[in-house]
Amino acid sequence: MSQYANDLIAEVKTKNPAEPEFHQAVQEVAESLSLVLERHPEYRTARILERIIEPERVIMFRVPWVDDQGEVRINRGYRIEMNSAIGPYKGGLRFHPSVTLGILKFLAFEQVFKNSLTTLPMGGGKGGSDFDPKGKSDLKVMRFCQAFMSELSRHIGPDTDVPAGDIGVGGREIGYLFGQYKKLRNEFTGVLTGKGLNWGGSLIRPEATGYGAVYFAAEMLSTRGKTLEGKVCLVSGSGNVAQYTIEKILQLGGKAVTVSDSDGYIYDEAGITTEKLAAIMELKNVRRERIKEYTAKFKNAVYTPVNPKLDYNPLWSHKADCAFPSATQNEINNKDAQNLVRNGAYLVAEGANMPTTLEGVRVFLDAKILYGPGKAANAGGVAVSGLEMAQNSMRLPWTRDEVDNRLRMIMKSIHSTCVQMADRFGTPGNYVNGANIGGFLKVADAMMDQGVV
Ligand code: NAP
Repeated sequence: MSQYANDLIAEVKTKNPAEPEFHQAVQEVAESLSLVLERHPEYRTARILERIIEPERVIMFRVPWVDDQGEVRINRGYRIEMNSAIGPYKGGLRFHPSVTLGILKFLAFEQVFKNSLTTLPMGGGKGGSDFDPKGKSDLKVMRFCQAFMSELSRHIGPDTDVPAGDIGVGGREIGYLFGQYKKLRNEFTGVLTGKGLNWGGSLIRPEATGYGAVYFAAEMLSTRGKTLEGKVCLVSGSGNVAQYTIEKILQLGGKAVTVSDSDGYIYDEAGITTEKLAAIMELKNVRRERIKEYTAKFKNAVYTPVNPKLDYNPLWSHKADCAFPSATQNEINNKDAQNLVRNGAYLVAEGANMPTTLEGVRVFLDAKILYGPGKAANAGGVAVSGLEMAQNSMRLPWTRDEVDNRLRMIMKSIHSTCVQMADRFGTPGNYVNGANIGGFLKVADAMMDQGVV
């Protein structure tokens, strides 16, 4: 790594203590961008990367609410408005007890590059709360969402900042958040994406991240003359991204054999069929139960609970061709990456954000497998959010085919940007460099054009 990148990371660590995920995300990008900054000293002079690392605005607020028993609860809410050089801030809201400022800053930082890669005019942002919707009644979730939006509504708007869903924020939560925004502002606008179809949502938005990750994987495979037909795939998570990843793998002739949640994972050697996927959707989206229940219906599947004593995740030790991490950050460590490569995996497409540690990424790059980092591979979600914004502005919905075709074209374009940028900067086949550089250049040039603001 260059001295410049080393100094930059040291400064980020000093200035942003106790934010390890943010340090990790910056380090990966700074390593890739060393290649660009050597050739383009004008970006260094204008301190573009230093400016991208500093959020334009961080909003942190109290969320007080009353639960079903009449008890007062207090959570912490955040919105990180990271960069608006190429469009309004755009990025999801995460409701999970693990949410901290550092996690949301890493996500907002990644979002800047991802949104730039989509070809659509969207800046980067992220937000959320340490509220845990798991196991809570609809009424509790509604009360929390209303309290959260009471403050957030002051900071967002259809031309300013347009949040969407992420972990713990699905259609139900977006509905409650949208309802409260509409009541407070007395306006019906496209202020959130991931909305219901009857009230401004886009077809294919729920499917988009998972479908997009699989389209991206198909593009990567095609560079080696392969397709997904007959490929055995490991998938982690069982939420939105995992479900539609499995659906698209099935449609393209592949076989997904695992799903997980934070308590454990399922290995179903026979493969997750359309019928089994429908059962997972019912289990997770309607009954809101744990993935363990899968084995009650499908007896041949094996459930393995999380073992905190292990320093690896056995899900990634099964023999497979492809892996689609779709749960959360840092779910593939060095050992997991080695296990994947040793057992023959030659493709990793990240549905989740930063699911692989820096050491794990190094293993994939050294092994020269097809490794699609999250900011490229999972950009389909925000891309269709961008398409939802376009439809809201026109007040005209597109058909399922129209949106799906556009999603497919966008994923193709992101893939070719990654390939071209990796080539141009002397690291062919390195999608990490390709994505970081491709995402950076558009934002950097916009910032150069707009002066020091
Ligand atoms: P989701 O519907 O809430 O599902 C999340 C899944 O991951 C659940 O199965 C959850 O299990 C599991 N999980 C969450 N935290 C975990 C942890 N600490 N350890 C183990 N498992 C954990 O969320 P999602 O929308 O699918 O998001 C999954 C990933 O994709 C995230 O990294 C997100 O940032 C990324 N992503 C999402 C979108 C999108 O459009 N939704 C777009 C781009 C990227 P539990 O039920 O046990 O918590």
